[in-house]
Amino acid sequence: MKITRLSVFQVDLPLEDAYWLSGGRLKFEVLDATIVKIETDAGLTGWGEGTPWGHTYVPAHGPGIRAGIETMAPFILGLDPRKVLDVERAMDLALPGHLYAKSPIDMACWDIAGQAAGLPIADLMGGGSRTPRAIASSVGAKTVEETRAVIERYRQRGYIAHSVKIGGDVARDIARIRDVEDMRRDGEIVLYDVNRGWTRQQALRVMSATEDLNVMFEQPCETLDDIAAISGKHAAPVSVDESLVTLQDAARIARDGLAEVFGIKLNRVGGLTKAARMRDIALSHGIDMFVMATGGTVLADTEALHLAATIPDANCHAVWACQDMITIDIAGGRGPRNTDGHLHLPEEPGLGVHPDEDTLGDPVAVYT
Ligand code: MG
Repeated sequence: MKITRLSVFQVDLPLEDAYWLSGGRLKFEVLDATIVKIETDAGLTGWGEGTPWGHTYVPAHGPGIRAGIETMAPFILGLDPRKVLDVERAMDLALPGHLYAKSPIDMACWDIAGQAAGLPIADLMGGGSRTPRAIASSVGAKTVEETRAVIERYRQRGYIAHSVKIGGDVARDIARIRDVEDMRRDGEIVLYDVNRGWTRQQALRVMSATEDLNVMFEQPCETLDDIAAISGKHAAPVSVDESLVTLQDAARIARDGLAEVFGIKLNRVGGLTKAARMRDIALSHGIDMFVMATGGTVLADTEALHLAATIPDANCHAVWACQDMITIDIAGGRGPRNTDGHLHLPEEPGLGVHPDEDTLGDPVAVYT
């Protein structure tokens, strides 16, 4: 089987509500999605998506994906998409780094490989759990009262996992954590996501002041060096997501004990092929996981769900799905959707959901 054609689509995904991160440092209103269609001489078609969370969140942006694909396309055409390692190596040779540009191609290849094998991607990767995965809400930086209201709204839609965005103001962060813990129900999973918003002193002050609550923080500081510097000085479990980019990052975090949880972002780390290695490092070091796309449509959510399904139930805390936050649906309601706060693994071969092509407009580039 050979890749014969690669089509690239660009779609703007407006967020239902403007979204603030990092104590109000960063505002997001529209996501720039790149949707990739790979066709083969065997008649199978695979779809991939790369949607960074804007261009100020981490070093990734929509136009960069499309430029990267333009550079990589001549190296990918003619390859067998089922041989995902061959495709991965061709991309790494054609364009070192730029992992976020590679994930949509990797995803489309897994989609085709799954269809060719007659298996959902998770099963092709070795076996997918059918236990529904809890979707973590995303509670943007707000006051104590607004935080309560947003969590209540998510609860009414069935959510039992919440990612509460904090960071920026020590006193306000402590107040919000105490208040959320006060309203936390049995069985609810709450992660306090700082999104790099604290300096080392701010991190230690909030983490010390909330030590009695035994809560978990995500990405408390900007870099792995910062997280390493404070790691012996507080008792809280830490999740790392934005600083988890390469397999070397994963190895360092695991070996040096910098975090107890990986937040694996598929687009950030370069797709399923690379993320699966991080999963194995995590599992072999007693590290649990959250899995998410970074942003995007139901396609990206579904890719994340497949990886999450390959993690033992006890080690996968939650997934994050962006589909409830955007106002456009490119797949007409198909694919895994929020069912009482959970996503169910699709049983169709491959990814299990494809877009309606007429919602995508004309491709912005076609490579043959
Ligand atoms: Mg995070």
